[in-house]
Amino acid sequence: MTAPLPRVLVTGGSGFIAGHCILQLLAEGYQVRTTVRSLARESAVRSVLSDAGMVNGAALSFVAADLTSDSGWPDAVAGCDYVLHVASPVHVEHVENEDDVIVPAVQGSVRVLRAAHDAGVKRVVLTSAFHAVAYGYARTDHQFTEEDWSVLDGPGVTAYTKSKTLAERAAWDFIGNEGGSLELATILPVAVMGPVMGTQISGSNNIIQRSLNGAMPGYPHLWIPIVDVRDVAKAHLLAMTTPEAAGQRFIVSSGPAIEMKAIGVILKTALGARAKHVPSRSIPNGIVRIGSRFNKELRPFVADLGFARKMTSEKARRVLGWQPRDPEEAILATADSLIRKDLVKA
Ligand code: NAP
Repeated sequence: MTAPLPRVLVTGGSGFIAGHCILQLLAEGYQVRTTVRSLARESAVRSVLSDAGMVNGAALSFVAADLTSDSGWPDAVAGCDYVLHVASPVHVEHVENEDDVIVPAVQGSVRVLRAAHDAGVKRVVLTSAFHAVAYGYARTDHQFTEEDWSVLDGPGVTAYTKSKTLAERAAWDFIGNEGGSLELATILPVAVMGPVMGTQISGSNNIIQRSLNGAMPGYPHLWIPIVDVRDVAKAHLLAMTTPEAAGQRFIVSSGPAIEMKAIGVILKTALGARAKHVPSRSIPNGIVRIGSRFNKELRPFVADLGFARKMTSEKARRVLGWQPRDPEEAILATADSLIRKDLVKA
């Protein structure tokens, strides 16, 4: 009889990316533990994962833990070889109190790393974001890499940008100062799309839902780099086991940014009448600028109008052997799942 594969903790099992990580880990034969803020969520999360094709569900267990409290984390990490720390508040929209997003992200990062260190975990893979790399800069032709960090007093920086940058910096500081033999690797996804789980729609899939619902009068001149959630999960698994990944950051993007209106074209071309509410028009920059005076949600985008950040995932391909799908596949997988689940207007 072969020994079971190692045990992995995935934080925030109710989330979109964490759910896909759990599916892949179970399919590869790992023992998986996940955290939820309350164990009352366990059966709902299990049922979402089952609907999404979970295999080997008996190898999945749950622990209650919140990023804002120490309680639960020692039990969550006990006996784990690896931790994928995915949970963090995802509020890309305007928030009145920035600390509501920043504090749980930063404290949560350190809390999870400290617990992992104390329990003798080998490696933590932290889900950071491209927001920790390339934001707060004036328009530039610079090709962003893992060497870059967002500038938090620059243009277009949101509470979310701050939360991701400060949480990742706090994680590297912890490893540098107190980490001992604990290893860290960080994954920096761009906008994540792909098969929706349950009925919760994460930030980037919102663009597809709003497009199919006709909830946008047109597309602003924004450029978005996209990656499929299945490839993001795969990058986490590779960063967990690839020896050379220790101590490294990895940008994960399926390719260069695409203009938002190209998403509409992809949807219309593939879905025909099912995409009848998808807008064809562009919204002039001047209208977005005026709108942003009244609508706080639009403000962070003004700095990005017509600006495509250049970046590369060459490092993830080279070090991890990571091979992502095309962005079209991610966009259409989101759309298909939304349609199948009846989460968009017919
Ligand atoms: P999501 O579906 O909203 O998942 C967020 C998860 O974090 C949920 O499980 C949530 O639990 C948990 N969480 C939030 N606050 C918490 C707290 N105080 N204590 C414990 N758990 C808490 O978002 P996602 O898209 O999967 O994002 C997962 C990670 O990927 C995040 O770190 C995010 O910054 C990063 N990321 C996402 C994208 C993207 O486009 N989606 C891009 C780059 C990076 P509840 O269900 O209890 O709220």
